[in-house]
Order: sequence, then C-alpha cells, then structure tokens
Amino acid sequence: MEQERISVGFASSSGEITIEIYKQRYVIQDCELFVRQLILVLGDQLDHDSAAIQKLDPEQDAVWMAEVVEEATHVWCHKLRLAAFFSAMRHFRDELRERGAKVLYHELSENSDNDRGGTFSEVLAFTVEEQQPERLVVLEPGDHRVLQSITEFADSVSIPLKVVRDNHFYCGIDEFQEWTDGRKRIILEDFYRHMRKKHDVLMDGSDPVGGEWNFDSDNRQSFGKSGPGKIKAPRSFQTDQITQEVIQMVEKRFADHPGSTGDFDLPVTHEQARALLRDFIKYRLPEFGTWQDAMWTDRPFLHHSRISFALNVHLLSARDCVWAAVEAYESGAAPINSVEGFVRQILGWREFVRGIYWQQMPEYIELNALECDRDVPQAYWDGETEMACVRDCMQSVIKHGYAHHIQRLMVLGLFSQLLGVHPRKFHDWHMAMYLDAIDWVSLPNTLGMSQWGDGGIVGTKPYCASGNYIHRMSNYCSGCRFNYKESTGEDACPVTTMYWHFLDRHRDRFQNNQRMKFQLKNLDRKSEEEMQAIRERAEFVLEEFG
Ligand code: FAD
Ligand code: SF4
Repeated sequence: MEQERISVGFASSSGEITIEIYKQRYVIQDCELFVRQLILVLGDQLDHDSAAIQKLDPEQDAVWMAEVVEEATHVWCHKLRLAAFFSAMRHFRDELRERGAKVLYHELSENSDNDRGGTFSEVLAFTVEEQQPERLVVLEPGDHRVLQSITEFADSVSIPLKVVRDNHFYCGIDEFQEWTDGRKRIILEDFYRHMRKKHDVLMDGSDPVGGEWNFDSDNRQSFGKSGPGKIKAPRSFQTDQITQEVIQMVEKRFADHPGSTGDFDLPVTHEQARALLRDFIKYRLPEFGTWQDAMWTDRPFLHHSRISFALNVHLLSARDCVWAAVEAYESGAAPINSVEGFVRQILGWREFVRGIYWQQMPEYIELNALECDRDVPQAYWDGETEMACVRDCMQSVIKHGYAHHIQRLMVLGLFSQLLGVHPRKFHDWHMAMYLDAIDWVSLPNTLGMSQWGDGGIVGTKPYCASGNYIHRMSNYCSGCRFNYKESTGEDACPVTTMYWHFLDRHRDRFQNNQRMKFQLKNLDRKSEEEMQAIRERAEFVLEEFG
C-alpha cells in the first residue's frame, strides 16, 4: 500500500483546524474488500439528504452508526437526551434500511457485555477490522472533539478519510471565515443582514421587508398581571415500540443520570418533526415575536417552537423552517415582527454561533475571561431551591430537557455568571441537561453569550442584570420568598445581591466598556457602607446557593 499524506485545512484564523488525510493507493493482494466507502452517520446527522449519503451506492457502500457509552457519559447526560438521540438514530437506521442501504449499527443493550467497546474508536475499529473499507466518509461533525477523534482513528489505521461539507447550514465554515476576514467588528447584526441579502430572505429588492432589519423593540413584552392566557402547547408524540425499548435500556444502564424519561413526547422521525414545525407555524408563530422574552411559572414553552432538538439532529431542515415562516408572513398568517424574530434566530444567530465555533476552536473552550472557578450550583442538577425563578426553569430542564432562550440566558445563565461559575463547567452542565445541546451551538452560547468567558467574541458586554429584570419579564418574583428589590438583609434576592457584587468585583475590567457605563454609574452611587453589606450578603449567597 502506498501512502501520501495530505492536509485539508478548515479555514481558521488560528490555523488550528486542520484535517490530515492519507491518500492511499491500495494494492490488494490477500484481503477481500467488503465495503468501498464506510459512511459514518453521527447522532446529529439524521438526514436522507445529507451530503455524505446523497451518493451512497448500496451495492458497494455501507452506513455505520453507533450508540456509544463514551458519548453518553463524557458529560453526565440527562436520560431524556440519551433516549431522544438513540430513538431518533434507530428510526433513521430503519428508514435507511427500508430504502435499501446496508447499515451497520451498534446498539447499546441493557447488558454491557454486548458492547463492542466503550469508545467511538473502539466500536469503529471493530467494524473496520470486519469490513475492510476502502475509505471512511463523514459529514463535518458538530463537535471538534469528535472530528479530532475520527481523524486520529483514520490516521491510526491508515485509512483515507473524507470529511464532507455539511449542507445543512446556510453558511459554510470557510464562507464564515471569508466574511470575517479584514472586518473591524464581528457582530451578529452585520452577519445577519449579509445572510438576509445573500439568501434573499425577507427582502424587498435591497431593502428589508417591513422597512426595518430589526423589530426587537416590539419583541420585549411581558405578560402583565393577567398572564399569558391560553396558548396551544407544542405538538407531542406518543412513544412507539422502538422508543419504549430505548427508554427501558436508558433507565437500566444510565439509572443514576439526571432527569427522567417519563414524559417522553418528542419527535423522532422526519415526519413527526415536520408536524411539530407546522404546528408551531400555525398556532404560535403569530405571537412568537411579541412574547419571545417573557416567562411565566409552569409554562415552559409559551409561544416558542421547541424545534431545536429536531433541527440540530437534522430531522428538520433550517431552510424549511425559514421558508415556512416567510410563507406565513406572505400569506398574512403571521406578522413581520414575529417572522423576522424567528428568521433572525435561525438564519442569524444559529449560523453565526456555528461560524464562531469553528473559527475559534480548539482554543475557545479554554477561555475564561472573568477568571471564574466555581462549580454549577447543586440546584442546577436537582431543581431544589427557594429561588422561584431558578426552580421553575430547572423543573422544565429536568422534565423536558428544555428551557427557552430567556430562561437560559437571563435566569440560569445570569445567576451562574453572577456567582462566578467556571464557563467550561457551565457549558458541560448545559451539554448534559439540554436535548438540543451539540458542542458547536452550546459552547458559543454558554461560554460566550451567557458567561462572557470569551471576553467579548460573541457579545460586546456581559448579560448581567439584577432581579428587577426577572421581575419585569415574569411572575416569578411574586411567588418567591425573596424580594427582588433588596440586595442586603434576610429577604435579599440572591440575583440582586450578586449583581452588585459582580459589578463591584469586575469594576476595573469594565471601566472602559461604553456599554457598561450606565451600570457602573449606578454602582458608584452606592455608599461604602452599603457595598460592605452587599459583600457580606454575597458571601452568604455563595455559601448557600453557589
Ligand atoms: P425558539 O425560541 O422557538 O427559536 C427558534 C430556533 O431559533 C431555535 O430552535 C434555534 O434553532 C434557533 N435559535 C434561537 N436562538 C439561538 C441561538 N442563540 N443560537 C443558536 N440557535 C438559536 N440552542 C441550541 O439549539 N442548542 C444549544 O445547545 C443552545 N445552548 C444555549 C445556551 C444558552 C446559555 C443560551 C442562552 C442559548 C442557547 N441556545 C441553544 C439558543 C436557544 O436558547 C435555543 O435554541 C432555544 O431556546 C431552543 O428552543 P426553541 O426550539 O423553542 O427555540
Ligand atoms: Fe428570582 Fe430574586 Fe425574583 Fe426570587 S426575587 S424569583 S430569586 S429574581
């Protein structure tokens, strides 16, 4: 066998993301070649139109899929997350087989004796040994660690690896790099406008439809005393035999993992995912924009879509989501502030954070701009706390593996940031507890947007606020034993105390940040006596709630 080593670089400012591939010419003598291409389909790549399997030749190629213990335990995964991934994978496996593909599938069973190895590489090595493929093919993975492990594996067994560009995103990794090249500022708003123009989404010639690029000022309403009223809940789906078997396996093998599977009602097929999208467009999109920042006790979904799991494992396509929303606007079924708000999340934020992830990795995961070192609070695992806001959000996370954006950003993320939780630990926790968490999307949102661990790459200032914000956007404070207005004393709201403490301890760092000026000015108004009382109360909060 002759080998020529070549490098395929992912465009990266740091030049770190480089895949090394062996180009080989096989001289086949004794060994019989069973499989030409072994196409690796990962748990978040469940799409028949995926560029990696579009050209699959069932006569010569095989698909490889694996449920691997390492992927379920490298962070301590929520049971519902495990069950959702494995069930969707098994359904996709069966669909591929029905379409005539040869699928080599490693299934976890209740008994670990049946495993062909605990790690991705061990299980893959088994298949490679058995099938002697000519080359491995994989769609760009959504996790730098996984890409690295596949690359190292291919390297170790000297098999050529083809990494296929992921066709599920509007913006390729290299294209994002090109867009950032030479720019003074890399901000979502500029990127989003570029994407709108490039893909002709909600455009009227060169102007935005509705005359504005952004309807955020219409989209920050809270419900007021009367609450959200009746909103049709997102479509839920009954478990079938495959899902029930998966749940049984997960409950047995991962019994000590957090969360529960008792309320499993998720889409696990493309058909179900499309039904979930249709249901959102019809019933909740029209008011999505107006209420997208609002929160209410025991109402986890409100006007949100709950599509992120289906979208991130490619049971749904981002283009279908954007088209469906635009169509709703064009037919008069939904107003521009809602449709633009939804499109901004998918065509804007979702694509933007993916670009940042691949541009900044692998260094990005190590960033810790605010030099934090604390663990996530125990309440983030079990939901047990007197803080009504944290308790309500955590109940949704434990039950559904879900919290909506503002609950993530302005309750759980905010409190973690104010406490000084290490951003990587917050990300690991998020990866463990949320159904939709894949590294490329979780990391820039957690470490970057929410914890400001990247020092301003994703957002220009930390999202820090006092209990007053939570009071304004929810009914949490009215049912809480603490007082959102108080920062000292027995009834002091832990969020408010820690807000002032956060500003106090980072005062020097943010002195020159124009967007923090107003908050720091308010801090300056506090007397030294008051600040001392806040510092003392903060010690108590860190002890009790940290
Ligand atoms: P909706 O509110 O209905 O929004 C529609 C869609 O827009 C979402 O499904 C999602 O695909 C997209 N979207 C919205 N905001 C973002 C964003 N900031 N980044 C990327 N996509 C976005 N989203 C994930 O998909 N996976 C994650 O791991 C993830 N981690 C997050 C961590 C934190 C700390 C924060 C603040 C946000 C995170 N998000 C993540 C973004 C957002 O909170 C979720 O996409 C959203 O809450 C999912 O619920 P939904 O499907 O009902 O979304
Ligand atoms: Fe949360 Fe403070 Fe409001 Fe209680 S008073 S719900 S802790 S913000």
